[in-house]
Amino acid sequence: MKEKRYVIIGAGMAGILAGIKLLERGEKNFIILEKTGALGGTWRDNRYPGLTCDVPAHAYTYSFAPNPDWSSYYCGGAEIRRYFEKVAADFGVMPYIRFNSEVTSSVFDEANATWTVSVADGSVHEVDIVIAASGVLHHPKIPNIPGLDSFKGHAFHSARWDDSAPLDGSRIGIVGCGSTGIQILTALTGRAKQIVALQRSPQWVMPVPQFDYMEEEREAFRRDPKLIDEIRYNKDYWAAIIRFTEGITNIDGPEMAEIEELCRQHLEDSIKDPVLREKLRPNYRAACKRLIYSWCYYDHVQKPNVYVETGSIDRVEPDGVRMKDGTFHPLDVLVLATGFHADRFIRPASVIGRGGKTLDEAWAVRPTAYYAMALPEFPNFFLLNGPTGPVGNFSLIDIAEAQWGYITQLIDRLKEGNARAVEPTTDAMADYEERRIAAAKKTIFGSGCTSWYLDDTGVPASWPWSYQNFVDSMAKPNFEDYRFAA
Ligand code: NAP
Repeated sequence: MKEKRYVIIGAGMAGILAGIKLLERGEKNFIILEKTGALGGTWRDNRYPGLTCDVPAHAYTYSFAPNPDWSSYYCGGAEIRRYFEKVAADFGVMPYIRFNSEVTSSVFDEANATWTVSVADGSVHEVDIVIAASGVLHHPKIPNIPGLDSFKGHAFHSARWDDSAPLDGSRIGIVGCGSTGIQILTALTGRAKQIVALQRSPQWVMPVPQFDYMEEEREAFRRDPKLIDEIRYNKDYWAAIIRFTEGITNIDGPEMAEIEELCRQHLEDSIKDPVLREKLRPNYRAACKRLIYSWCYYDHVQKPNVYVETGSIDRVEPDGVRMKDGTFHPLDVLVLATGFHADRFIRPASVIGRGGKTLDEAWAVRPTAYYAMALPEFPNFFLLNGPTGPVGNFSLIDIAEAQWGYITQLIDRLKEGNARAVEPTTDAMADYEERRIAAAKKTIFGSGCTSWYLDDTGVPASWPWSYQNFVDSMAKPNFEDYRFAA
């Protein structure tokens, strides 16, 4: 087997995974290029109060690195970040990470079947294989609200939390009520004098349990990891995941009806004031936008210091937000929980493949990749959690692990030595796109709402088939669909 040289782009969950897995294979000829000074990706960028992963902690864990120490069923962001730091250290990945190394370009040289990866500090790395593990939601979307710059208080995006912003006793406006906005709201009701939730569209909320693990339980997990497996692979949890993916792909079936009924009943049962209840009732189907999983949002939104504003924002003024109907909300802090540009992936770094083809050209209509991992004309270039991969309410760690298992089977072919470059054929890619788009339009994500799942043409960019289909697809590549070049 011929040794390969790798660059992994990004030291978040997926990049750390790739590093660990390469070491496991005895491959040490790699570096992880990380644009910032710390690892953790989304768990490094997001530090907002209330940040919680809405996948149960024992399921949001590498399969090979169970963590007996999780404090609760759903865990906070700081604890998750510490987990990734510990795993990266325990599995020996740290020496391979080059921090403050933002990749600016990756260029393929067809004659030599190598990638030249350039970094902002001027360094250049020549490798055989590029693994782009640069994440999905990492370019904050700043809303174009007139007057935003004139605000005298603290205004900032949720993923760029301003630690100097006064929260206790303050009047806080939160623009956006996606997963982020509602978590911030629930964390601040006990601290703020007043919260104005500036809600353009309400969200459906799925009730979930939350509880702390007691020290005796953690001790038991340490003694007997099988107890952790019982949670990670809990049959009810997996049945819910399967039901969910069945539901989103068969939108008039019983699974979707059950999800919708659960969310509707949660709203009816929880919100006492009929006016507020109607403000919080979405006019689209549950799970069309990514479902909010919360055990406490409806409690907090009913607190006396919370006001849900459903009017349109006209402008930001120095002392607050003016609505189109003239209402003025005086504010000290304005949090923009307005989401991310979900179509960027590795960009703005430029990627130039075979024959000078650029990633921007390949993605002129929409970002896509063959089974979310590879692209024609970009040999030996693989994405983890790339476009069109599953992004539903389940663990992206499991997704990345399955994708890695698939990618290594392609790499093994290269290492066997008969070919130096591999990429999907254009026919295979076209067939995948045709099938994917047709299926995506029929998913719940395409049932009539706006969301970050939709690409510029309104097609959902998420995996449009069942979870089992994903697992089966990842088990083994169809090698006929790939072009292996000597
Ligand atoms: P998001 O789901 O895209 O929500 C953005 C919110 O901002 C929406 O309510 C949107 O309203 C609103 N908005 C955007 N621009 C606006 C404008 N100009 N004026 C008024 N409102 C505006 O973003 P997010 O909440 O950051 O969540 C993104 C994703 O991150 C989630 O779906 C999830 O995948 C992930 N996430 C996960 C967790 C977790 O627990 N695992 C936590 C946080 C985030 P409209 O709906 O009307 O567009």
